[in-house]
Amino acid sequence: MSAEMKLTNWVRASILRLKPYSSARDEYSGDALVFLDANENPFDSPYNRYPDPLQRKLKERIVVLKQVSPEAIFLGNGSDEPIDLLIRAFCEPAIHNVLRMDPTYGMYEVAAGVNNVGVIRVPLTGDYQLKASRLLAAVTPETRMIFLCSPNNPTGNALDPGEIVKVIRGFPGPVVLDEAYIDFAPGRSFLPRLAEFPNLVILQTFSKAWGMAGIRLGMAFADPEIIAVLTKIKYPYNVNILTQQAALAQLANPQEKEEWVAALLKERKKLATALSQLPQVEKVWPSDANFLLVKVKNARKVYEFLVRQGIVVRDRSGVTLCGESLRISVGKAEENELVIEKLQQYSM
Ligand SMILES: *Cc1c(COP(=O)(O)O)cnc(C)c1O
Repeated sequence: MSAEMKLTNWVRASILRLKPYSSARDEYSGDALVFLDANENPFDSPYNRYPDPLQRKLKERIVVLKQVSPEAIFLGNGSDEPIDLLIRAFCEPAIHNVLRMDPTYGMYEVAAGVNNVGVIRVPLTGDYQLKASRLLAAVTPETRMIFLCSPNNPTGNALDPGEIVKVIRGFPGPVVLDEAYIDFAPGRSFLPRLAEFPNLVILQTFSKAWGMAGIRLGMAFADPEIIAVLTKIKYPYNVNILTQQAALAQLANPQEKEEWVAALLKERKKLATALSQLPQVEKVWPSDANFLLVKVKNARKVYEFLVRQGIVVRDRSGVTLCGESLRISVGKAEENELVIEKLQQYSM
C-alpha cells in the first residue's frame, strides 16, 4: 500500500496527536489479591468495580462467532457510538463532509450534524439500489467518509454487493458499511472479506436479530489501525458491566438467535403476502430485513387509524423516494395477524 493510501493518513491530525486518558485498569488489567488503584468502593454491590475498558471476555466470544481477530473489533454503546466516533476521528468540523445514500438510516446525518460536518445525499435508484458511479461522482475534495447501509433502512433491501465493492475500491477513504440487518438477508456479510479492503468499516449490532436493543451494544469491525483510533477516543468505560454480562449470557446461546431469525423470516413472508392482498396497499417492497416498507393510499390516514387501534408503525412518507409509505416491523405471529385484521376493517 502506498503512503497516501494508508488510512491513518485520513485521521484528523489532532486525533493522531492525542494522548488518550489512561485509566487505572489500562495500567494494570490482570488478576490481583487486592485492587486499590481506582478509588472504587471495596464492598461488593456487586457493581462496585469499573468494567473492563477493552471488554476482553466479550471480544473473545465475538472472535469465535465472527472469525475475526480481537484487534479488529470495537464495541460501543450501540452502533450510534462507532458512527459518532468515526466522524469525529476522520472529519474536521466546518471543513469536511460525509456522503450518504438517500434514503437511508437517519443517524449518520445526525452524527455529522452534531459534529458540524457536512452531508452530501446521493439518491438511490427508483428501486432503491445503489449506483456506485453516481455515489462516487458526488465525492468532493472535502469528502472524508461514505456511509452504506445493507440491508438498507427504511427500504429493507440489500444492496448489490458488486456496487458495494465498486464504492469501497473507488473511494480511498473510509467506507462504513452498516450491516445491522444482515442476519435477515440471504446474501453474505462483508465480514469475511474485511482483510481485502483496508478502508472498510463494518457495523453490526446486538439490537436487532440478537434481541438486545435494551443493553445498547454495537460492533465495528475494521483494520486494527482504525480500531485503535476508535479505542483511543472512546469514553474509557463505554460498555458497562451489566451490558457486558447480558451480552455474554446471550452469546452463550446463539441457537436462540437463529430460532428468532427463522421465525421472523417466516412471519415476514406471511405478513408481506397478507399486506399485498389489502385494497389500500399499493406495493410491498421486497425485504431482506425484519421490516417491510409498504406503499399505501394515504399513509397518514392509515397510520392514524392504526394508532387508534393501539398499533404503532412508522410513517416514512417524508423520506426521499418513500412517499405514502409505512415501515412495519415484523412482530410475533399474533401481532402481525392483528395488524392485518385491523387493516381489513379499515375503510378508505
Ligand atoms: C437499528 C439500526 C442500527 C442499530 O443501532 P444501535 O445503536 O446498535 O441500536 C444501526 N443501523 C441501522 C441502519 C439500524 O436500522
